[in-house]
Amino acid sequence: MIFNQLQEKIDEEQLLQLQLERLQMTLNRVYRNVAFYKQTLEREKIMPEDIRSLADLKRLPFTTRADLVAAYPYNMFAVPLRDIVRLHSTSGTVGKPIVVGYTKNDLARWTECAARVLAAADVTEHDVVQIAHHYDLSTGGFGFQQGAERIGASVTPAAAATPIEKQIIIMRDFKTTVLISTPSLALRLAHELEELKLHPEYLFLRVGVFGGEPWSEQLRVELENRLHLKAFDAYGLTEVAGPGIASECEAREGLHVNEDHFIVEIVDPATGESLEPGEQGELVFTTITKEGFPLLRYRTGDIACLIPAPCRCGRGFRRISRIVGRTDDLIFYRGKKIFPSEIETLLLSIPGLTAHYQIILERLGEEDMLELQVELPRDLLTDSLKDLELLRDRLLNKLEEELGAPVKILLVEPKALAQTGTAKINRVIDKRKG
Ligand code: ZN
Repeated sequence: MIFNQLQEKIDEEQLLQLQLERLQMTLNRVYRNVAFYKQTLEREKIMPEDIRSLADLKRLPFTTRADLVAAYPYNMFAVPLRDIVRLHSTSGTVGKPIVVGYTKNDLARWTECAARVLAAADVTEHDVVQIAHHYDLSTGGFGFQQGAERIGASVTPAAAATPIEKQIIIMRDFKTTVLISTPSLALRLAHELEELKLHPEYLFLRVGVFGGEPWSEQLRVELENRLHLKAFDAYGLTEVAGPGIASECEAREGLHVNEDHFIVEIVDPATGESLEPGEQGELVFTTITKEGFPLLRYRTGDIACLIPAPCRCGRGFRRISRIVGRTDDLIFYRGKKIFPSEIETLLLSIPGLTAHYQIILERLGEEDMLELQVELPRDLLTDSLKDLELLRDRLLNKLEEELGAPVKILLVEPKALAQTGTAKINRVIDKRKG
């Protein structure tokens, strides 16, 4: 179903005109209200009125993750705090997170975008929607919650932290028809059902809306076969808006971007040059309706391409491909995102430890496991076994607390991690597949 026929079926000419008007409004807003953008635009000698066409967008500098971290907590806000009604943030495991703020209007638009995602996946007021994303400072749980309520579905905020056995009991007893989660949580669910020798028809699932981490077409087929549901891909990131930026329609041949709210570009990650539809590169978004936290040309680090042809569903918005990778070393682990540099900061916060480490990601059964191997400094080698165990437990507790998920810690001898012939340690070894 198309949630908002008028907007989502907009013709190209009208859409481009709407985008230009909204971009100009956004430029005026950030120039007046966000010191970072005022300085950036002045440095580039660009005034808001110089941007006269959508092609001029390319003249604007990019906004990076580092810019947003540096603005912690409120320096990128374009309205006074009294106009902000909701605050979310990225996990920012150890370092400073990115804080985003929504005005009342922002919340209403975000809710509509999330409702479009669910309507496109055929979710209706007759559905019982179980949301198994994190309900915390991140946007996943709340964004989908608002969207599902807007549609009139019955929502159960089961949350990612709820054990999988309990998720199954809720699903069965509440007659859940729609599961919203990461694909890896869905995989754990499939595994648990098999362990419990329960047929998928024991549940009432018919639709899965999965996102929050990159996943493959093979995994879609697997999840559909094992859970007896139709699986849809949804894309969002907290910095730009959370869920509702792009998602699949019934054709499931790419994700429509809500282009009346976001301008999408694909750029070469190395040169920043714009790429043509069909060419793979980094996704860049400009928000054009946000009041609280507007962003110009935000580099997401996600790799995808624009799909050149229009979609057979009749929506006027262009599509992006699945996310195929990252430009950086961001790790997706059990619904959380972590940079190795954040783990490094945590290690260095413990007296005596150094930042010689390696992260190993494995899939054990259907469960992801992160093992952090840490080299012991030479002077700690003489410590008693008990002291070393205490040190390991301290690190374990700290890391699990930050991640909200189980991890393993292995303390190894000095230089154990350096590879033969090279001093450089490969920080992340990801052995998971799909
Ligand atoms: Zn479509």
